Amino acid sequence: MGDDTESETDLNEIERLDKAHVFGTWSFQNEVRPRQVVGAEGNRFETADGEEYLDFSGQLMCSNLGHSADRVADAMAEQAREGAYFAPGYTTENRARLGEKLAEVTPGSLSKTFFSTSGTEAVEAAIKIARMYTGNHKIVSRYRSYHGATYGSISVTGDPRRLMAEPGIPGAIKAPDPYAYGSTMDPMESLEYIDEMLMLEGDTVAAVLVEPVVGSNGILVPPPEYLPRLKEIAHDHGALLICDEVMSGFGRTGEWFASDLFDVTPDIMTMAKGLSGAYAPLGGTIVTDEVAAHFEDEMFCHGHTYAGHPVACAAGLAAIETYESEGLIDRADEVGRYLGDRLEELQETHPSVGETRGVGLFRGIELTKRADERVPFGERKDKISTGTTVVDEVAARAGDRGVYVANMINTLIIAPPLSITREEIDEAVDALDHALDHAD
Ligand code: PLP
Repeated sequence: MGDDTESETDLNEIERLDKAHVFGTWSFQNEVRPRQVVGAEGNRFETADGEEYLDFSGQLMCSNLGHSADRVADAMAEQAREGAYFAPGYTTENRARLGEKLAEVTPGSLSKTFFSTSGTEAVEAAIKIARMYTGNHKIVSRYRSYHGATYGSISVTGDPRRLMAEPGIPGAIKAPDPYAYGSTMDPMESLEYIDEMLMLEGDTVAAVLVEPVVGSNGILVPPPEYLPRLKEIAHDHGALLICDEVMSGFGRTGEWFASDLFDVTPDIMTMAKGLSGAYAPLGGTIVTDEVAAHFEDEMFCHGHTYAGHPVACAAGLAAIETYESEGLIDRADEVGRYLGDRLEELQETHPSVGETRGVGLFRGIELTKRADERVPFGERKDKISTGTTVVDEVAARAGDRGVYVANMINTLIIAPPLSITREEIDEAVDALDHALDHAD
């Protein structure tokens, strides 16, 4: 788990084959240390070297249902046997019912979904829809954001991952963030800045695209009045509001969607990850009745072979039924409060913890060199920097104690399966407590 003393000879045959023949994502290939997973159950998984880990981040903040959701696995197998794939023009019961279900669980008049296979594709579709609907081409997004890796979605991403794709697509404009802890601009002030940006762009913007609660850039929860005001600003300038709920959706925040926390219905919402609980690659871009109506007599010029793949849609429908039947959304709210309290204790006892923040089972621990100065510990990694940061080391030390925790930039990202128990939270927080000693 990121232990930099490991060498190539520590890898078993499968790991060596993987390293030799599979491109690792977002990494220098010589640094990749694949670990073979041999089993997973509930909220834990096991590697070939006999280590067992409690999954405190739901892998890439996507395994909302843990690792043994039989209902989802069975639904996928059944659909694969009934018919794995059919061309556009055909549908399956699972796809139609998933579309209906999404109209039910998403806010307001969001009612019609374009299905794809990932978050990045969900965002690509949202950009295209907004451009076609408004006739404008610019997209305003924010600096502390991640929206995906393909050319459109990486261009509208604000964090350093975009730098290697620059100049990117035309018209991708960045705005400041609602980041009370680490920015000099007050969150509400940053909104007025966006208002002025849209005016100065001459009302030629197709959409303002935001993560309603920012995920990989540090779990940033804006003030309650932020998102409603942002929607107003966008509409005043003829732009749509796109909420990217790829990471924040499906119970993560204790509501079905983070937009629900703020009582806002965006014009377009993107989703993936928790949509299938990570059992199948599935993305979705849902639009309001009003946006959908526009495409009644304008061609929707977009699609992929695997858009609305029957097996993935079977996974999506079964995943939503599982959230419902097991009461996981309310559970995330309740257990999430406990998690928040436990993380606050870490902030009180560890000088290296600058801030713990978040909502539901979507929380972050931002590390800092000195709490009073708010200097981030981890260096931002981009194409020209490499090496291990203190945040990486804290995550690795938690791994040594049997807890998997993801880390991004200078924040440990806590997003466990929604079924996590209080006892498991205690176990993970204890491991982090020890791991953080190293950073103090
Ligand atoms: N949007 C957000 C908010 C994300 O967090 C991510 C991935 O982490 C994406 C889009 C891209 O999703 P994917 O990795 O499935 O392409």
